[in-house]
Amino acid sequence: MTQRPANVPTNIKHYINGEFVDSVSGETFEVLNPQTNGAYGTAASGDKADIDRAVAAATEAFTNGPWPRMKNRAKARVLNAIADAVEARDQELAEIETWDTGLPITQAKGQARRAAENFRFFADLIVAQHDNAFKVPGTQMNYVNRKPKGVAGLITPWNTPFMLESWKLAPAIASGCTVVLKPAEFTPASAQLWAGIFEDAGLPKGVFNLVNGFGETAGDALVKHPDVPLISFTGESRTGQIIYANCAAHLKGMSMELGGKSPAIVFDDADLDAAIDSTLFGVFSLNGERCTAGSRILVQRSIYDDFIDRYAERARNVKVGDAFDPATEVGALVHPEHYEKVMSYLEIGKGEGRCVAGGGRPEGAPAEGNWVAPTVFVDVEPTARIFQEEIFGPVVAITPFDTEDEALELANNTRYGLAAYVWTENLKRGHNFAQNINAGMVWLNSHNVRDLRSPFGGVKASGLGQEGGYRSIDFYTDQQAVHITLGDVHTARFGAN
Ligand code: NAD
Repeated sequence: MTQRPANVPTNIKHYINGEFVDSVSGETFEVLNPQTNGAYGTAASGDKADIDRAVAAATEAFTNGPWPRMKNRAKARVLNAIADAVEARDQELAEIETWDTGLPITQAKGQARRAAENFRFFADLIVAQHDNAFKVPGTQMNYVNRKPKGVAGLITPWNTPFMLESWKLAPAIASGCTVVLKPAEFTPASAQLWAGIFEDAGLPKGVFNLVNGFGETAGDALVKHPDVPLISFTGESRTGQIIYANCAAHLKGMSMELGGKSPAIVFDDADLDAAIDSTLFGVFSLNGERCTAGSRILVQRSIYDDFIDRYAERARNVKVGDAFDPATEVGALVHPEHYEKVMSYLEIGKGEGRCVAGGGRPEGAPAEGNWVAPTVFVDVEPTARIFQEEIFGPVVAITPFDTEDEALELANNTRYGLAAYVWTENLKRGHNFAQNINAGMVWLNSHNVRDLRSPFGGVKASGLGQEGGYRSIDFYTDQQAVHITLGDVHTARFGAN
């Protein structure tokens, strides 16, 4: 296995008010390399005291600092400088991410570039942004005064840490908010880079604050802090429910991007080569640790046998190995706890479907590390746990269907509603089917690519609210309505007899 790249941080700290600091308590936790499960360093373990310090710094920067009052063009220059720095450091970033998460290096590099794009996009958006003004001729003028909401609490998962952090940081900062970021405890390394990138780009001190630690301590304190009026959370649906309840005490604004069990539906008139490429990539890229993974494939019965033969053969050929090897397609899963969870689903799956690829550790895998062979279960009943529950690993359940109605029923038959993928050459059917699926996002004859202007979010247990484009700016800002009389003031004269 590749040795630790020199730039991987091993003494991971909080970053509060422009300084790297230890926890008030001095507590740390170990961070592991998924390819060996060896501890390669420690991270400061934050709790309420550290969150209090970070929120105080962010509050001061919001109340008295220059950032929330800067002109949009000036803010956009800083955001573009951040994007430039992320792009320039994409190799370094990808190496840190690959080391910490086990994501294959080529895919980690793509994520770094996407992170840069998020900043560039919001730089453009705030410069072009306009708000409503309404005139009632001769009577009244009404306009929207958009204002950043304050200190935003950002809580992120481990699957593509740096990119998902950028997804929240870029619109929050672009909106003029100040932030406290709590990254996932499995993968704290790459977030260290934000500090230097932001400093060099000219982001004022205190706008960005970072507290590492566990969800139940650092995350919980951030959610419950009275001076944090909004929480943007990405993670499991179960965690989302806890955070939702904890936000209620302060009636906080919430954006929730949660889990998924997204279907890919392949009709018998589909471009089968394209559908096979996409449905393989859809569940095995990012090690299967992808919220929008097409982890249930529904295939029309007339092409079912052909589809599963071809699919299984390709899945058996997927290259699992050292995540630093550019040829690797699937690396080691993020953490032994997650590995155990995925492996337990492989055992459950063996009682629920026919395993035609994978089903355990790959042959020849090193003794250590979280390796899982890309696994394909076929003939899976819709009541099966592997059909219903999010596994978040390189595991797919394939089920046949006969009619369009049956396909729709199967597609909608889970608690989740994040994404869906539809493959058919019949445009009328494709559009109607896409529109009837209970999913926040549908890709028709396409794999998962998204223009940053379009909404991102799930329905049902997959999320609350949409992010993406101006919707993200709406989340981080208040739209105050200002009404001005232009003519005489006509008011009923109470108390004037
Ligand atoms: P998780 O819910 O376990 O943790 C996510 C974050 O929440 C971590 O930073 C964690 O420390 C924190 N947290 C945990 N408990 C908390 C609490 N009580 N209060 C405050 N913070 C708390 O999720 P995970 O295992 O890190 O990530 C995987 C999940 O994320 C999957 O379900 C996946 O589908 C989902 N996800 C969704 C999207 C999306 O956009 N919909 C994107 C990526 C990942």
